[in-house]
Amino acid sequence: MTKNDGIHNSILELVGETPLIKLQKITKDLKGAYYAKVEYFNPRLSSKDRIALHIINDAEKKGILKKGATIVETTSGNTGYSLAMISLIKGYKCILAVSDKSSKDKIDLLKTMGAEVHVCPANVPADDPRSYYEIAKTIHKKTEHSVYINQYFNALNIEAHYRTTGPEIWQQTNGKVTHVVVVSGTGGTISGVGKFLKEQNPAIQVLGVDAFGSVLKKYHETGELDPKKIKPYRIEGLGKSLIPTATDFDVIDTYEKVGDKDAALAAREIVQKEGLFCGYTSGAVMQATKQYAALDMFDKKSFVVIIFPDHGSRYMKKIYSDTWMKAQGFID
Ligand code: PMP
Repeated sequence: MTKNDGIHNSILELVGETPLIKLQKITKDLKGAYYAKVEYFNPRLSSKDRIALHIINDAEKKGILKKGATIVETTSGNTGYSLAMISLIKGYKCILAVSDKSSKDKIDLLKTMGAEVHVCPANVPADDPRSYYEIAKTIHKKTEHSVYINQYFNALNIEAHYRTTGPEIWQQTNGKVTHVVVVSGTGGTISGVGKFLKEQNPAIQVLGVDAFGSVLKKYHETGELDPKKIKPYRIEGLGKSLIPTATDFDVIDTYEKVGDKDAALAAREIVQKEGLFCGYTSGAVMQATKQYAALDMFDKKSFVVIIFPDHGSRYMKKIYSDTWMKAQGFID
């Protein structure tokens, strides 16, 4: 069966080919046309389905993953959902090391989907033995027949978006896209999309989104990493305290940094103005788009594609809770 028959051998056939949706109201005061690539149309509600499936398929093809094997990963949640879903369907065991910034709902859902979850402190250096990177590495070493997905340092993360998300945007816009605005976490999305689109048209601008407290923008501009500048922030999935090799800084033109409050308010605005119920980083990318517009990055001929990485249901106890928003001082 193919996708177009409407009948599928498994949910895995529904990964990718997400829609591009024209933004109607939220960008009406900005110059240019704005389209959102809404990644929550993937089966497990985020762009991470693409990389999880690509990396697992690749390991199977290379004979690394055998039936009954264990998949190990560090994840802020989304990659975990995707890996748990694919593991269930393909018959693997899934062990995840997550940051304690991840919401309780996320952790509960990962467990419901059959994953074994280890919760680790977010605000320790990456090389600290308590960090989720180190915990995942240790589990991988100790577990026979395990595969470490290692999304931050896996070139296949970029390749998944280079092969799917990038070409989809090119086809959906009939090559008219002039700018993409993309959140940078592992950097897989922005690097794969950016590389593909620049190969089609080198004039396309690849605009990154980073968080205040993260190191990516400074590293992109100076090649330097200043650990003293790392500060905690609330947005899950955006920015980093280390430099992931899954980020190809050469294809990124520039970064804008966004704050926790602005991103949270922008996510709520997307729901209210567009009816798209997206996650926290979608608010971040929306806020960054407004900041880029304020810097005169766009004109009336601009065709701007914004990637919304995931669904809002994961944030009901955070940005979609008035109590949480008040506790952060984000609303009165
Ligand atoms: N948004 C969310 C909610 C995420 O979980 C992630 C991945 N950590 C991203 C955006 C960033 O995507 P990428 O890792 O491809 O840079």
